[in-house]
Amino acid sequence: MGTIEIAGLTRTFKGVTAVDDVTLTIDDGEFLVLLGPSGCGKTTLLRILAGLLEPTAGSITVDGTDITRTPSRRRDLAMVFQSYALYPHLTVAKNLAFPLTARRGRPRPDRAEIDRRVTEVARTLDIAHLLQRRPRELSGGQRQRVAVGRALVRNPRAYLMDEPLSNLDAKLRTATRHELTSLHRTLGATFVYVTHDQVEAMTMATKIVILDHGRIEQVGTPADVYDRPATRFVAGFIGSPAMNLLDAELTGVGGQVFVHTDGISGRLWPGRLDPTAVTLGVRPEHLRPIDAAGAAGHHGVLIDAVVGTVENLGNEEIAYCRIESGATIAVRGNRTGALAEGAPITLAADPERIHLFDPETGVRLE
Ligand code: ATP
Repeated sequence: MGTIEIAGLTRTFKGVTAVDDVTLTIDDGEFLVLLGPSGCGKTTLLRILAGLLEPTAGSITVDGTDITRTPSRRRDLAMVFQSYALYPHLTVAKNLAFPLTARRGRPRPDRAEIDRRVTEVARTLDIAHLLQRRPRELSGGQRQRVAVGRALVRNPRAYLMDEPLSNLDAKLRTATRHELTSLHRTLGATFVYVTHDQVEAMTMATKIVILDHGRIEQVGTPADVYDRPATRFVAGFIGSPAMNLLDAELTGVGGQVFVHTDGISGRLWPGRLDPTAVTLGVRPEHLRPIDAAGAAGHHGVLIDAVVGTVENLGNEEIAYCRIESGATIAVRGNRTGALAEGAPITLAADPERIHLFDPETGVRLE
């Protein structure tokens, strides 16, 4: 497809800025996921990319050619919607063939070629046995495949998908995630995929774009956004349960930086930051209970807490613990039975697992 460059893209609706000055490069063959909470502008951005909506400002180019005002049908992009948008009165075969038979102003392949494409796509998606059925005679997962198949049949330059798995139950969603990932590998095509589900984003994306209020918060690989969230918003959005975010005060003594607030104490690595007020972030899975002897020799951060409720997830447990400031922090670990409700506890985190954010702007420090 080539490289898609989005520059300064903005869209307002009667005073609401749905997409706010978005600049982004989508590389050829990428599985790019637009991720963010409801109303953050994901669908609006995808619709502008598809040519279904005009931007208020900004441009889109493909390999240097400006397509900002190119009509949707001339962009050669295939869209897969959440609702699947299948024609109820047509068979699966006819639904699949539809994009080839209804080509306004463009050459239409002959019957044999259409049959060949439909058969090929049906085989790829394992729906060949369903070709003569109508959408109402299919399960949700089968309908979803037909919707993807209808995009595939055109062999487009890129696939644009808007929450295509959200109507499926949890088990089917997991299975279909794997299928989409392997389809992306097989086709080598560009995928732009909208979701509010961080698990979908983390498991499928080669690159994640996290949006909030129409603005980009971070662009990065799944590992980037998990390991080094660029903002407090990203830190709180990626990960389940969410990263613990606590107010803390850093103090500096002899070139070292210490944290010392409300039962949180410890040393961050030398000279990391000037003394200041920060938002300190630590993921539930990076906190572990530690005994007094271990705490004495620990080089990272220690947090004194009292265990509140403990959730048993079968393979692991999540304890919600109260700290001196009154805040609750989540701790995730193996089911050891060591976390008893009401018990005082000291939790340890290694210094490299600590994230620091500016409490005013939310931007990552260091
Ligand atoms: P969701 O996950 O709920 O679908 P989203 O991230 O896809 O949300 P958008 O649908 O892009 O968000 O909407 C972004 C903002 O723009 C929202 O505040 C929404 O109410 C507003 N908006 C979207 N389309 C229109 C429209 N046609 N008219 C007015 N406001 C709109």
